[in-house]
Amino acid sequence: MQPTKNIIIIGGGIGGAATALALHRASFEPVVYERTKVLREVGAGIALWANATHILKKLGILEDAIRVGHLTANYQFNSQRGKELVNIPLDGFELPVVGIHRAELHQLLWRNVPSEKFVLGQTFEGFEQEGEKIRAYFSSGLTVTGDALIGADGLRSRVRGILLGDQPPVYRNFKTWRGLTNYIPRGYRPGYIQEFLGLGKGFGFMMLGKEQMYWYAAAIAPEAQPDAPIGRKKGLEIEFQDWYTSVPELISATEEVNILTTDLYDRPPTQPWSKQNITLLGDAAHPMLPTMGQGACTALEDAFIVAKCLQEQQDPTTAFQHYESLRFPRIKLIVEQSLQSANMGKLNNPFTVALRNTFMKFMGATISKSFTDFHAYRA
Ligand SMILES: Cc1cc2nc3c(=O)[nH]c(=O)nc-3n(C[C@H](O)[C@H](O)[C@H](O)COP(=O)(O)OP(=O)(O)OC[C@H]3O[C@@H](n4cnc5c(N)ncnc54)[C@H](O)[C@@H]3O)c2cc1C
Repeated sequence: MQPTKNIIIIGGGIGGAATALALHRASFEPVVYERTKVLREVGAGIALWANATHILKKLGILEDAIRVGHLTANYQFNSQRGKELVNIPLDGFELPVVGIHRAELHQLLWRNVPSEKFVLGQTFEGFEQEGEKIRAYFSSGLTVTGDALIGADGLRSRVRGILLGDQPPVYRNFKTWRGLTNYIPRGYRPGYIQEFLGLGKGFGFMMLGKEQMYWYAAAIAPEAQPDAPIGRKKGLEIEFQDWYTSVPELISATEEVNILTTDLYDRPPTQPWSKQNITLLGDAAHPMLPTMGQGACTALEDAFIVAKCLQEQQDPTTAFQHYESLRFPRIKLIVEQSLQSANMGKLNNPFTVALRNTFMKFMGATISKSFTDFHAYRA
Protein backbone atom coordinates (compact mmCIF):
# COMPACT_ATOMS: atom_id res chain seq x y z
CA MET A 1 0.00 0.00 0.00
CA GLN A 2 1.18 3.53 -0.91
CA PRO A 3 1.40 5.93 2.05
CA THR A 4 -1.68 8.14 2.43
CA LYS A 5 -0.88 11.52 0.92
CA ASN A 6 -3.74 13.23 -0.88
CA ILE A 7 -6.61 14.06 1.43
CA ILE A 8 -9.88 15.55 0.18
CA ILE A 9 -11.55 17.81 2.76
CA ILE A 10 -15.15 18.83 2.15
CA GLY A 11 -15.97 22.18 3.81
CA GLY A 12 -13.70 25.10 4.65
CA GLY A 13 -15.20 26.29 7.97
CA ILE A 14 -13.12 26.35 11.16
CA GLY A 15 -12.98 22.52 11.22
CA GLY A 16 -12.00 22.07 7.56
CA ALA A 17 -9.46 24.91 7.61
CA ALA A 18 -7.88 23.60 10.84
CA THR A 19 -7.66 20.10 9.33
CA ALA A 20 -5.97 21.49 6.21
CA LEU A 21 -3.43 23.29 8.40
CA ALA A 22 -2.79 20.27 10.65
CA LEU A 23 -2.33 17.98 7.60
CA HIS A 24 -0.18 20.55 5.79
CA ARG A 25 2.08 20.86 8.88
CA ALA A 26 2.30 17.04 8.92
CA SER A 27 3.48 16.99 5.25
CA PHE A 28 0.27 15.61 3.72
CA GLU A 29 -1.33 17.07 0.61
CA PRO A 30 -4.79 18.21 1.72
CA VAL A 31 -7.18 20.06 -0.59
CA VAL A 32 -10.31 21.74 0.79
CA TYR A 33 -13.41 21.99 -1.41
CA GLU A 34 -15.74 24.72 -0.17
CA ARG A 35 -19.13 25.58 -1.66
CA THR A 36 -18.97 29.34 -0.99
CA LYS A 37 -17.01 31.51 -3.39
CA VAL A 38 -15.22 33.35 -0.58
CA LEU A 39 -13.69 31.91 2.58
CA ARG A 40 -15.54 33.56 5.42
CA GLU A 41 -17.06 33.17 8.87
CA VAL A 42 -20.10 34.80 10.41
CA GLY A 43 -19.70 38.13 12.24
CA ALA A 44 -19.57 36.84 15.79
CA GLY A 45 -17.08 35.96 18.47
CA ILE A 46 -15.91 32.73 19.94
CA ALA A 47 -14.25 31.65 23.17
CA LEU A 48 -11.19 29.47 22.72
CA TRP A 49 -10.68 27.59 25.96
CA ALA A 50 -7.32 26.13 27.01
CA ASN A 51 -8.05 22.80 25.26
CA ALA A 52 -8.28 24.76 21.98
CA THR A 53 -5.44 27.25 22.56
CA HIS A 54 -3.29 24.13 23.09
CA ILE A 55 -4.09 23.12 19.50
CA LEU A 56 -3.31 26.63 18.21
CA LYS A 57 0.05 26.37 19.96
CA LYS A 58 0.74 22.99 18.32
CA LEU A 59 -0.20 24.50 14.94
CA GLY A 60 2.13 27.47 15.57
CA ILE A 61 -0.55 30.19 15.54
CA LEU A 62 -1.23 30.84 19.23
CA GLU A 63 0.86 34.02 19.42
CA ASP A 64 -1.02 35.46 16.43
CA ALA A 65 -4.38 34.51 17.97
CA ILE A 66 -3.43 36.27 21.22
CA ARG A 67 -2.39 39.34 19.19
CA VAL A 68 -5.78 39.65 17.45
CA GLY A 69 -7.88 38.29 20.33
CA HIS A 70 -8.45 39.19 23.96
CA LEU A 71 -7.22 37.28 27.02
CA THR A 72 -9.98 36.10 29.31
CA ALA A 73 -9.41 35.14 32.94
CA ASN A 74 -12.85 34.55 34.50
CA TYR A 75 -16.17 33.00 33.55
CA GLN A 76 -18.89 34.42 35.75
CA PHE A 77 -22.53 33.30 35.99
CA ASN A 78 -25.08 35.72 37.47
CA SER A 79 -28.80 35.98 38.05
CA GLN A 80 -30.62 38.11 35.47
CA ARG A 81 -30.26 41.14 37.74
CA GLY A 82 -26.51 40.64 38.16
CA LYS A 83 -26.15 38.75 41.44
CA GLU A 84 -23.09 36.50 41.15
CA LEU A 85 -23.86 32.77 41.26
CA VAL A 86 -20.52 31.22 40.26
CA ASN A 87 -17.17 32.63 39.21
CA ILE A 88 -14.86 30.20 37.44
CA PRO A 89 -11.20 31.29 37.30
CA LEU A 90 -9.74 30.46 33.88
CA ASP A 91 -6.14 31.48 34.45
CA GLY A 92 -4.97 28.34 36.27
CA PHE A 93 -3.72 26.67 33.11
CA GLU A 94 -0.37 26.92 31.34
CA LEU A 95 -2.36 28.24 28.34
CA PRO A 96 -4.61 31.29 28.04
CA VAL A 97 -8.31 31.50 27.16
CA VAL A 98 -8.80 33.79 24.17
CA GLY A 99 -11.91 35.63 22.99
CA ILE A 100 -11.58 36.12 19.25
CA HIS A 101 -13.65 37.19 16.24
CA ARG A 102 -14.50 34.07 14.23
CA ALA A 103 -13.22 35.64 11.01
CA GLU A 104 -9.83 36.35 12.66
CA LEU A 105 -9.52 32.72 13.80
CA HIS A 106 -10.60 31.43 10.40
CA GLN A 107 -8.07 33.62 8.61
CA LEU A 108 -5.24 32.51 10.89
CA LEU A 109 -6.02 28.92 9.97
CA TRP A 110 -6.26 29.22 6.19
CA ARG A 111 -3.58 31.87 5.71
CA ASN A 112 -1.02 29.40 6.97
CA VAL A 113 -1.89 26.91 4.21
CA PRO A 114 -0.93 27.53 0.54
CA SER A 115 -3.92 29.19 -1.15
CA GLU A 116 -4.11 26.57 -3.91
CA LYS A 117 -5.16 24.08 -1.20
CA PHE A 118 -8.56 25.82 -1.02
CA VAL A 119 -10.83 25.30 -4.01
CA LEU A 120 -13.83 27.59 -3.65
CA GLY A 121 -17.29 27.56 -5.24
CA GLN A 122 -17.42 23.74 -5.34
CA THR A 123 -20.49 22.05 -3.87
CA PHE A 124 -19.84 18.42 -2.98
CA GLU A 125 -22.42 15.96 -4.32
CA GLY A 126 -21.17 12.45 -3.74
CA PHE A 127 -18.33 9.96 -3.67
CA GLU A 128 -17.45 6.46 -4.78
CA GLN A 129 -14.71 4.06 -3.88
CA GLU A 130 -12.16 3.33 -6.59
CA GLY A 131 -10.01 0.49 -5.28
CA GLU A 132 -8.01 1.99 -2.43
CA LYS A 133 -8.82 5.52 -3.61
CA ILE A 134 -11.87 7.71 -3.18
CA ARG A 135 -13.42 9.78 -5.93
CA ALA A 136 -15.48 12.86 -5.00
CA TYR A 137 -17.76 14.66 -7.37
CA PHE A 138 -19.23 18.13 -7.31
CA SER A 139 -22.29 19.87 -8.75
CA SER A 140 -20.04 21.80 -11.18
CA GLY A 141 -19.02 18.53 -12.87
CA LEU A 142 -15.59 18.50 -11.19
CA THR A 143 -14.37 15.11 -10.00
CA VAL A 144 -11.26 14.57 -7.88
CA THR A 145 -9.48 11.51 -6.53
CA GLY A 146 -7.67 11.15 -3.22
CA ASP A 147 -6.38 8.59 -0.75
CA ALA A 148 -8.97 9.60 1.86
CA LEU A 149 -11.89 11.98 2.35
CA ILE A 150 -12.82 14.03 5.44
CA GLY A 151 -16.32 15.50 5.71
CA ALA A 152 -16.04 18.85 7.54
CA ASP A 153 -19.21 20.16 5.94
CA GLY A 154 -21.05 21.22 9.08
CA LEU A 155 -24.40 20.62 10.75
CA ARG A 156 -26.24 19.43 7.62
CA SER A 157 -23.29 17.47 6.25
CA ARG A 158 -23.89 15.86 2.88
CA VAL A 159 -20.90 13.59 3.44
CA ARG A 160 -22.58 12.33 6.62
CA GLY A 161 -25.91 11.92 4.83
CA ILE A 162 -24.35 9.63 2.22
CA LEU A 163 -22.01 7.83 4.61
CA LEU A 164 -24.49 7.13 7.41
CA GLY A 165 -27.93 8.06 6.08
CA ASP A 166 -29.08 8.84 9.61
CA GLN A 167 -31.73 11.17 11.04
CA PRO A 168 -31.48 14.96 10.67
CA PRO A 169 -30.13 17.03 13.61
CA VAL A 170 -32.51 17.65 16.51
CA TYR A 171 -33.94 21.11 17.19
CA ARG A 172 -33.73 21.77 20.95
CA ASN A 173 -36.41 24.50 21.21
CA PHE A 174 -33.78 27.11 21.81
CA LYS A 175 -32.66 29.96 19.59
CA THR A 176 -29.83 32.45 19.90
CA TRP A 177 -28.95 35.96 18.88
CA ARG A 178 -25.38 37.17 18.55
CA GLY A 179 -24.25 40.79 18.38
CA LEU A 180 -21.05 42.78 17.91
CA THR A 181 -20.50 46.37 18.98
CA ASN A 182 -17.67 48.71 19.98
CA TYR A 183 -19.66 49.90 23.01
CA ILE A 184 -18.22 48.79 26.35
CA PRO A 185 -21.01 48.59 28.93
CA ARG A 186 -20.53 50.23 32.33
CA GLY A 187 -20.86 46.91 34.14
CA TYR A 188 -18.16 45.15 32.11
CA ARG A 189 -15.47 43.54 34.25
CA PRO A 190 -12.20 43.45 32.27
CA GLY A 191 -11.11 39.91 31.39
CA TYR A 192 -14.48 38.40 32.30
CA ILE A 193 -17.02 36.42 30.34
CA GLN A 194 -20.22 37.50 32.12
CA GLU A 195 -23.41 35.45 31.76
CA PHE A 196 -26.86 36.19 33.14
CA LEU A 197 -29.54 33.56 33.62
CA GLY A 198 -33.25 34.34 33.71
CA LEU A 199 -36.53 32.49 33.15
CA GLY A 200 -36.08 30.47 29.95
CA LYS A 201 -33.58 33.04 28.70
CA GLY A 202 -29.93 33.87 29.05
CA PHE A 203 -27.50 36.57 28.00
CA GLY A 204 -23.68 36.73 27.96
CA PHE A 205 -20.90 38.99 26.76
CA MET A 206 -17.14 39.09 26.41
CA MET A 207 -14.44 41.26 24.89
CA LEU A 208 -12.82 40.24 21.60
CA GLY A 209 -9.68 41.81 20.14
CA LYS A 210 -9.80 45.36 18.79
CA GLU A 211 -12.04 46.51 21.67
CA GLN A 212 -15.08 44.78 20.22
CA MET A 213 -17.75 43.48 22.58
CA TYR A 214 -19.42 40.23 21.56
CA TRP A 215 -22.74 39.36 23.17
CA TYR A 216 -25.10 36.41 22.86
CA ALA A 217 -28.61 35.74 24.02
CA ALA A 218 -30.67 32.54 24.04
CA ALA A 219 -34.37 31.88 24.61
CA ILE A 220 -36.91 29.10 24.29
CA ALA A 221 -38.54 29.34 20.85
CA PRO A 222 -40.26 27.16 18.25
CA GLU A 223 -38.17 26.23 15.20
CA ALA A 224 -37.79 28.94 12.52
CA GLN A 225 -39.63 31.52 14.60
CA PRO A 226 -39.61 34.83 12.68
CA ASP A 227 -38.35 38.08 14.22
CA ALA A 228 -40.79 40.04 16.37
CA PRO A 229 -43.07 42.20 14.16
CA ILE A 230 -41.41 45.32 15.69
CA GLY A 231 -38.01 44.10 14.45
CA ARG A 232 -35.20 41.95 15.77
CA LYS A 233 -33.43 44.60 17.83
CA LYS A 234 -36.57 46.20 19.28
CA GLY A 235 -37.90 42.73 20.16
CA LEU A 236 -34.71 41.95 22.09
CA GLU A 237 -34.73 45.34 23.81
CA ILE A 238 -38.17 44.53 25.17
CA GLU A 239 -37.29 40.92 26.08
CA PHE A 240 -34.27 42.01 28.14
CA GLN A 241 -35.33 45.48 29.32
CA ASP A 242 -35.32 44.76 33.05
CA TRP A 243 -32.06 42.76 33.10
CA TYR A 244 -28.70 43.79 34.55
CA THR A 245 -27.88 47.24 33.10
CA SER A 246 -25.13 46.02 30.71
CA VAL A 247 -27.64 43.76 28.91
CA PRO A 248 -30.07 46.39 27.54
CA GLU A 249 -27.12 48.77 27.05
CA LEU A 250 -25.37 46.30 24.76
CA ILE A 251 -28.51 45.52 22.75
CA SER A 252 -29.33 49.17 22.15
CA ALA A 253 -25.67 49.97 21.23
CA THR A 254 -25.68 47.30 18.48
CA GLU A 255 -26.82 48.01 14.95
CA GLU A 256 -29.57 45.66 13.83
CA VAL A 257 -27.46 44.41 10.87
CA ASN A 258 -24.89 43.20 13.42
CA ILE A 259 -27.39 40.97 15.22
CA LEU A 260 -27.51 37.39 13.93
CA THR A 261 -30.09 34.83 14.90
CA THR A 262 -29.62 31.05 14.80
CA ASP A 263 -31.77 28.06 15.77
CA LEU A 264 -29.89 25.53 17.89
CA TYR A 265 -29.54 21.85 16.98
CA ASP A 266 -27.47 18.90 18.08
CA ARG A 267 -27.38 15.13 17.59
CA PRO A 268 -27.38 12.44 20.24
CA PRO A 269 -23.79 11.12 19.95
CA THR A 270 -23.60 7.85 18.01
CA GLN A 271 -20.96 5.88 16.19
CA PRO A 272 -19.63 5.24 13.58
CA TRP A 273 -18.34 8.44 11.99
CA SER A 274 -15.98 6.63 9.68
CA LYS A 275 -16.20 3.98 7.00
CA GLN A 276 -13.14 2.79 5.10
CA ASN A 277 -11.13 5.84 4.02
CA ILE A 278 -13.87 8.38 4.82
CA THR A 279 -14.45 10.14 8.12
CA LEU A 280 -16.29 13.13 9.61
CA LEU A 281 -15.12 16.00 11.76
CA GLY A 282 -16.47 19.03 13.65
CA ASP A 283 -20.21 19.72 13.39
CA ALA A 284 -20.57 17.10 10.63
CA ALA A 285 -19.56 14.43 13.17
CA HIS A 286 -20.87 15.85 16.43
CA PRO A 287 -23.00 18.99 16.40
CA MET A 288 -23.58 20.25 19.94
CA LEU A 289 -25.42 23.10 21.61
CA PRO A 290 -23.16 26.12 22.24
CA THR A 291 -23.78 26.22 26.02
CA MET A 292 -20.28 24.91 26.80
CA GLY A 293 -18.73 26.92 23.93
CA GLN A 294 -16.95 23.78 22.71
CA GLY A 295 -18.15 23.21 19.09
CA ALA A 296 -15.26 24.95 17.35
CA CYS A 297 -12.82 24.03 20.13
CA THR A 298 -13.52 20.32 19.66
CA ALA A 299 -13.34 20.73 15.86
CA LEU A 300 -9.78 22.05 16.41
CA GLU A 301 -9.01 19.02 18.59
CA ASP A 302 -10.46 16.70 15.89
CA ALA A 303 -8.27 18.34 13.22
CA PHE A 304 -5.09 17.86 15.20
CA ILE A 305 -5.88 14.27 16.21
CA VAL A 306 -6.99 13.09 12.77
CA ALA A 307 -3.70 14.39 11.33
CA LYS A 308 -1.76 12.65 14.10
CA CYS A 309 -3.57 9.34 13.46
CA LEU A 310 -2.86 9.57 9.72
CA GLN A 311 0.81 10.20 10.52
CA GLU A 312 1.03 7.20 12.81
CA GLN A 313 -0.89 4.76 10.61
CA GLN A 314 -0.36 4.34 6.86
CA ASP A 315 -3.73 2.76 6.22
CA PRO A 316 -6.42 5.51 6.33
CA THR A 317 -9.15 3.03 7.36
CA THR A 318 -7.18 2.07 10.49
CA ALA A 319 -6.16 5.69 11.11
CA PHE A 320 -9.79 6.88 10.96
CA GLN A 321 -10.97 4.08 13.25
CA HIS A 322 -8.30 5.07 15.74
CA TYR A 323 -9.23 8.77 15.42
CA GLU A 324 -12.87 7.99 16.09
CA SER A 325 -12.10 5.78 19.09
CA LEU A 326 -9.95 8.55 20.60
CA ARG A 327 -12.59 11.22 20.01
CA PHE A 328 -15.90 9.55 20.76
CA PRO A 329 -15.83 9.23 24.59
CA ARG A 330 -14.81 12.87 25.10
CA ILE A 331 -17.21 14.22 22.49
CA LYS A 332 -20.12 12.19 23.90
CA LEU A 333 -19.58 13.76 27.33
CA ILE A 334 -19.38 17.29 25.92
CA VAL A 335 -22.47 16.93 23.69
CA GLU A 336 -24.45 15.54 26.64
CA GLN A 337 -23.19 18.15 29.08
CA SER A 338 -24.01 20.92 26.58
CA LEU A 339 -27.58 19.64 26.33
CA GLN A 340 -27.85 19.43 30.13
CA SER A 341 -26.62 23.03 30.50
CA ALA A 342 -29.17 24.14 27.89
CA ASN A 343 -31.92 22.37 29.83
CA MET A 344 -30.88 24.26 32.98
CA GLY A 345 -31.01 27.49 30.96
CA LYS A 346 -34.49 26.65 29.67
CA LEU A 347 -36.06 26.45 33.15
CA ASN A 348 -38.78 29.06 33.11
CA ASN A 349 -40.78 28.62 36.27
CA PRO A 350 -39.82 31.13 39.02
CA PHE A 351 -39.61 28.37 41.63
CA THR A 352 -37.32 26.06 39.62
CA VAL A 353 -35.20 29.04 38.51
CA ALA A 354 -34.74 30.08 42.17
CA LEU A 355 -33.76 26.48 42.99
CA ARG A 356 -31.31 26.38 40.06
CA ASN A 357 -29.70 29.64 41.14
CA THR A 358 -29.37 28.47 44.74
CA PHE A 359 -27.92 25.17 43.51
CA MET A 360 -25.38 27.03 41.34
CA LYS A 361 -24.37 29.25 44.25
CA PHE A 362 -23.73 26.33 46.57
CA MET A 363 -22.24 23.99 43.98
CA GLY A 364 -19.82 26.59 42.59
CA ALA A 365 -16.74 24.46 43.26
CA THR A 366 -18.28 21.40 41.53
CA ILE A 367 -19.45 23.44 38.50
CA SER A 368 -16.04 25.08 38.27
CA LYS A 369 -14.30 21.69 38.39
CA SER A 370 -16.53 20.25 35.69
CA PHE A 371 -15.68 23.15 33.32
CA THR A 372 -11.98 23.08 34.07
CA ASP A 373 -11.82 19.30 33.58
CA PHE A 374 -13.04 19.81 29.99
CA HIS A 375 -10.50 22.60 29.46
CA ALA A 376 -7.65 20.57 30.95
CA TYR A 377 -7.74 18.04 28.10
CA ARG A 378 -4.61 18.09 25.92
CA ALA A 379 -4.97 16.41 22.52
C1 LIG B 1 -24.74 30.66 18.68
C2 LIG B 1 -23.49 29.83 18.61
C3 LIG B 1 -22.39 30.15 19.43
C4 LIG B 1 -21.24 29.36 19.40
N1 LIG B 1 -20.20 29.67 20.23
C5 LIG B 1 -19.09 28.88 20.25
C6 LIG B 1 -17.97 29.18 21.11
O1 LIG B 1 -17.94 30.18 21.85
N2 LIG B 1 -16.91 28.33 21.10
C7 LIG B 1 -16.88 27.22 20.30
O2 LIG B 1 -15.90 26.48 20.33
N3 LIG B 1 -17.92 26.93 19.46
C8 LIG B 1 -19.01 27.72 19.41
N4 LIG B 1 -20.05 27.43 18.56
C9 LIG B 1 -19.98 26.22 17.71
C10 LIG B 1 -19.15 26.45 16.46
O3 LIG B 1 -19.62 27.59 15.78
C11 LIG B 1 -19.24 25.26 15.50
O4 LIG B 1 -19.12 24.06 16.23
C12 LIG B 1 -18.12 25.32 14.47
O5 LIG B 1 -18.19 26.52 13.74
C13 LIG B 1 -18.23 24.13 13.52
O6 LIG B 1 -17.25 24.24 12.51
P1 LIG B 1 -17.28 23.24 11.28
O7 LIG B 1 -16.10 23.63 10.43
O8 LIG B 1 -17.40 21.84 11.73
O9 LIG B 1 -18.64 23.55 10.51
P2 LIG B 1 -19.09 24.87 9.74
O10 LIG B 1 -18.53 26.08 10.38
O11 LIG B 1 -20.56 24.78 9.57
O12 LIG B 1 -18.38 24.74 8.30
C14 LIG B 1 -18.87 23.86 7.32
C15 LIG B 1 -18.38 24.36 5.96
O13 LIG B 1 -18.73 23.40 4.98
C16 LIG B 1 -19.25 24.07 3.83
N5 LIG B 1 -20.13 23.13 3.15
C17 LIG B 1 -21.32 22.65 3.58
N6 LIG B 1 -21.85 21.80 2.68
C18 LIG B 1 -20.95 21.73 1.64
C19 LIG B 1 -20.93 21.02 0.41
N7 LIG B 1 -21.94 20.18 0.04
N8 LIG B 1 -19.86 21.18 -0.41
C20 LIG B 1 -18.84 22.02 -0.06
N9 LIG B 1 -18.82 22.73 1.10
C21 LIG B 1 -19.85 22.58 1.95
C22 LIG B 1 -19.98 25.29 4.42
O14 LIG B 1 -20.15 26.31 3.47
C23 LIG B 1 -19.04 25.70 5.55
O15 LIG B 1 -18.04 26.59 5.12
C24 LIG B 1 -21.19 28.23 18.54
C25 LIG B 1 -22.27 27.94 17.69
C26 LIG B 1 -23.41 28.73 17.72
C27 LIG B 1 -24.57 28.39 16.81
